[in-house]
Amino acid sequence: MAKANIGPMNYQLMLPPIIQRNYGKWKSHRIIDTGVIEHVSESGECLYTVRAGAAKIISVHGVRDICDLADKFCDGHLKFTSRTNIEFLVAQKEKIAPLKAELKRMGLPVGGTGYSFKTIIHCPGWLHCHTAVTDSPGIAKALHDALYEYFFRDDLPAKLKIAVAGCLNMCGAIHCSDIAVIGMHRRPPTVNDDIVTKSCEIPTLVASCPTAAIRPKGKSVEINPDRCMYCGNCFTVCPGMDIHDPEHDGLSIWVGGKATNARTPPAFSRLAIPYLPNNPPRWPETIEATTNIVHAWLKGAKQGERMGDWIERIGWERFFELTGIPFTNKHIDDFIFSVPTFRTTTQFHYTDNP
Ligand code: SF4
Repeated sequence: MAKANIGPMNYQLMLPPIIQRNYGKWKSHRIIDTGVIEHVSESGECLYTVRAGAAKIISVHGVRDICDLADKFCDGHLKFTSRTNIEFLVAQKEKIAPLKAELKRMGLPVGGTGYSFKTIIHCPGWLHCHTAVTDSPGIAKALHDALYEYFFRDDLPAKLKIAVAGCLNMCGAIHCSDIAVIGMHRRPPTVNDDIVTKSCEIPTLVASCPTAAIRPKGKSVEINPDRCMYCGNCFTVCPGMDIHDPEHDGLSIWVGGKATNARTPPAFSRLAIPYLPNNPPRWPETIEATTNIVHAWLKGAKQGERMGDWIERIGWERFFELTGIPFTNKHIDDFIFSVPTFRTTTQFHYTDNP
């Protein structure tokens, strides 16, 4: 049978020998130290995961140093997780301490296991995306700095997963993280007739809009602003539809999403703060707003309650009261072309007169 010549290799070819020997036989795991998980097989063999936080963008020199560690301590095997952690899979327990010492020397923190703050998922932002409102890695760095201590603790009420996306197309796990920072365009694209007519294919441009907001006009196009949801898809196919607007673009914060079905079903994030200024290089307003929500959750959540579980238990009214976030008309979905959510809110009755 012909083999496809695209896509990743079969992962089973790259498994460490201890995992190949015990494939399908792992019976338990437990955290034995900060950032270290012990996996026990039915055969009696043990494997240890040492989890180090890393950045999404690493130099070639950094990758080589990490590979050298994998050669030295893990027989040449390691794993990068979707949350940009590096997991060293160690077959000999006595190698854990020297590996941790080497990671410390390299400045890579070991932690992020159990009920702790996880490394932030983020999109590339301005680095190499034309749609992004902001420098997502920069916001992730500032948030990591603010919440760093929680990476080493596993005594939080539950896991704390944060994500950052530079636009609402949401590369990364924005829709299903406890807290999400999302860059928001807030005006429709500006149509540059000269570029559109010279550089763009009109049928493709019209078809690129998910809400049918674009229609032909002469040799160019026009936008129905009531239909536009500021996604930037049209700018992807046509450089004459620039959506960037430094004066009005900004950030928003969403809360309560999760992908797991542990205890309660998976949930989408919901809007908490509709607008914050896009304020590089350290985004103080966003960092303060995010840490404020984290601290309210730390104070009020019961053991095992993710952000969304906590909010569902206390009610959205109480969430807005405890965090001091104002509830505004922006929290009501008035986008009439989104049939499932039109005129829905975070599902509560809010009154200034309790
Ligand atoms: Fe359509 Fe998105 Fe372009 Fe608005 S930004 S016109 S919704 S493709």
